[in-house]
Amino acid sequence: MQVEVSRRRFLQGSVALSIIGGSVGASSIFTEEKEVIPERKKVATLCEMCVNKCAAWAVVENGILKKLDPNPLFPKSKNMLCARGDAGVHALYDPDRLKYPLIRVGEKGDGKFRRATWDEAYDAILNGTKLFKGMKQILDEEKDNRSTFGYCAGEGMGEHTFKQFMGDMIGSTNFVNHSSICLKTTTAGYALTLGAYGKADLENASYVIMAGANRAEAILTPDTMDMFKRTRGRGLKLIVLDPRYTNTAQHADKWLGIKVGTDLAFVLALTYVVIKEVLYNRDFVTKNMSHFEEYKQHILSNNYTPEWAEKITGIDAETITTIARDFMANAPKAIYYQGRRTAWSLQDFQLRRAQAIFSALGGGIDVKGGIVFGTKLPLGEHIVDVPIYNNVKQRIDKNEATFIGPNGTWIGFRNMIAEKRTPYPLRALFSYKQNPMQAVPNIGKTRKMFKNLDLVVTIDTMPSDTVMMSDVILPECTYLEREDPVKSFGGVEPAIVLRNKVIDPLYETKALFDILKGLSHKIAKPLFEISAKYDEALKETLAEDGFDDTFEDNNFDLTLAFEHTQEEINKERVVSEYGEEAYEMLKEKGVFYPHMDKYFKQLSENEYEYYPEDKKYYTTPGGEKLDAQDTCIDEKEMAALKKNFGTKSGKVECYLMTMEENGQDPMPTWRDELYNEAPKGKFKFVTGRHAQQTQNSTANNVMLLDVMRENYIWINKAQAEEKGIKYGDIVEVKSSVGKIHIKAYPTIKIIKDVVFYVHGFGQESTGLTFGYRNGASDNMIIEDTIESVFGSAAMHETLVEIRKV
Ligand code: SF4
Repeated sequence: MQVEVSRRRFLQGSVALSIIGGSVGASSIFTEEKEVIPERKKVATLCEMCVNKCAAWAVVENGILKKLDPNPLFPKSKNMLCARGDAGVHALYDPDRLKYPLIRVGEKGDGKFRRATWDEAYDAILNGTKLFKGMKQILDEEKDNRSTFGYCAGEGMGEHTFKQFMGDMIGSTNFVNHSSICLKTTTAGYALTLGAYGKADLENASYVIMAGANRAEAILTPDTMDMFKRTRGRGLKLIVLDPRYTNTAQHADKWLGIKVGTDLAFVLALTYVVIKEVLYNRDFVTKNMSHFEEYKQHILSNNYTPEWAEKITGIDAETITTIARDFMANAPKAIYYQGRRTAWSLQDFQLRRAQAIFSALGGGIDVKGGIVFGTKLPLGEHIVDVPIYNNVKQRIDKNEATFIGPNGTWIGFRNMIAEKRTPYPLRALFSYKQNPMQAVPNIGKTRKMFKNLDLVVTIDTMPSDTVMMSDVILPECTYLEREDPVKSFGGVEPAIVLRNKVIDPLYETKALFDILKGLSHKIAKPLFEISAKYDEALKETLAEDGFDDTFEDNNFDLTLAFEHTQEEINKERVVSEYGEEAYEMLKEKGVFYPHMDKYFKQLSENEYEYYPEDKKYYTTPGGEKLDAQDTCIDEKEMAALKKNFGTKSGKVECYLMTMEENGQDPMPTWRDELYNEAPKGKFKFVTGRHAQQTQNSTANNVMLLDVMRENYIWINKAQAEEKGIKYGDIVEVKSSVGKIHIKAYPTIKIIKDVVFYVHGFGQESTGLTFGYRNGASDNMIIEDTIESVFGSAAMHETLVEIRKV
């Protein structure tokens, strides 16, 4: 990354850096030599190193963050911070952080930027520069179609603020988030089948089938740890299906190396056994399942027998039969785990439906030890009035799959722009806390998308590969330098949490809220002038009320949404429901729930009780199934899904009429034509996560890279020997969309005809000193295949060739 700076500004920057560096040095020297106790404080915060939002204490000495400790008060995170959570210190002090606004001065993607003031950056967004067009010109040329401004966001506590700004206030319909490259098929599958995705009660289940979900590495949260404490004869039987013998499989009672893309056949065969042998919970089925008789006939008439599934999955029929019987013997405390990143194959949506129905057959829904929904503590509403734009168009990717929700399909959306086949020009992209260059399969096409856009604005903390493709870069402060919107986490033990600001923002960075506030002041009126030129309905109002009154009275003055600070909004939302004392508790301890002072108990050195057993919400009060316990799940999207599909019976839906009406299977059905076996000489490529990196967002974190510096490709040992590949050899891996070089890890821990390497490595941004080209990026070779129901990525359908170089 090259940044042109004037000498004056360079000196300013040096001073800023030396103040920070000086403070660190001064603090330690001062402490050591004069033995004066430094000014020390503990601030309650929430981790943002992954999506879980564990509660933490930030220990600050003389204004410097020294370390992060777990805060035991939050029921969701108990008293745990994982390695990534600890490494949040480096997120704050990473020398490669974006420090001030930047404006592109070279070719797009070549990494040449000039340092700018915030006002200059806002001005470049509105008016453009010699090299790129701004919002004003684009909107004028598109005759006030605000959907020309696309926007994307990664999961986080600011995501809603950003969406509200770009969607409701600016007026665009074109939003994409991570769901279609992550857990869309499972959230949609469970929402449409059970009424919500829910949470697997791993702490109380007796039997769990976990397929492809590597919780020991990908989401190492307290409930994961609690689950492992009970496996191997200690109360919970864990069956892991995965083509790899993962760290999760090491904790399991049984590991089954299933063939990639065949899980649906496995679940259908389990269902066959349970139906044939009438092992299901008849009372639950009668009361709670809709169209069960049709499903029963469907399973039996298709002959989804264990013998049939054995040929497809590679798992023997006897094992399948035993698992089906064991599962039902343990039901209702038996769960087919829903899964997290379920963007695997072309049959994913039906797979998740089949899993949900199978779990329901045991009655393990909305009960302790099964899939639970819990409840949510209310917070006062903060309403933002928004304008109406009449020239907005429907989202560009609405026909890329059978059902496209408000979060879109990343691959479909990207391909349309890259291939110049959008129904109207989508000319700008605003990206917040997301890195589509590394996150979306087929990087070559993502690069093309960025090249085809007139304006790219990114808000981030680090110079990611996506930031390098930008026209204007707005540096956000890290989660430790801001107060985020207060959040209510639902569940069995609901709580409200607050991420307090630990230290003031370093450099010239700002919180998202303040970034958008500044932008709103710059763009509100000029963009309103464009609407006034093209919006016929608005012209009538203007003629009656005049420019200023129309602007103010019809919510076009976007600055009004930022009249109060984030802190004031949080306070109002809490105090209006629970009073001043609750707010004080949140500021001080980061966590609040009614009766917390009475309920919360320390039982032993590292064991806590949050709610008495009889006060926990294992069953939803009023039967309303919520998804408020997981920030990755968009409650509004789920509600819209259920409404549009008419799944209001309150029962488990075995048959979805809306699917049938739209040419999709109304019941889970195995389709041979959607399954591809690897032909001789080729391998199926699978990707995944590991415990020391969160996607690609921690790619430059040296504290984590210390644990694992680069990724290696796993290949079955026997097949590696056939190819003469030894540990550490460099191999070339080639798919239809790209090729990479990577070191080899021959192992017996992966089945034949499958290769794997972990996501999050192989960044191309030269701004990332530590993450630059260490290993290989998976999305360089993953093909851009999507499943047809929701447009979710099918990341495990890519075939590759591998050779030693
Ligand atoms: S699981 Fe780890 S990274 Fe994720 S929020 Fe908790 S401490 Fe942070």
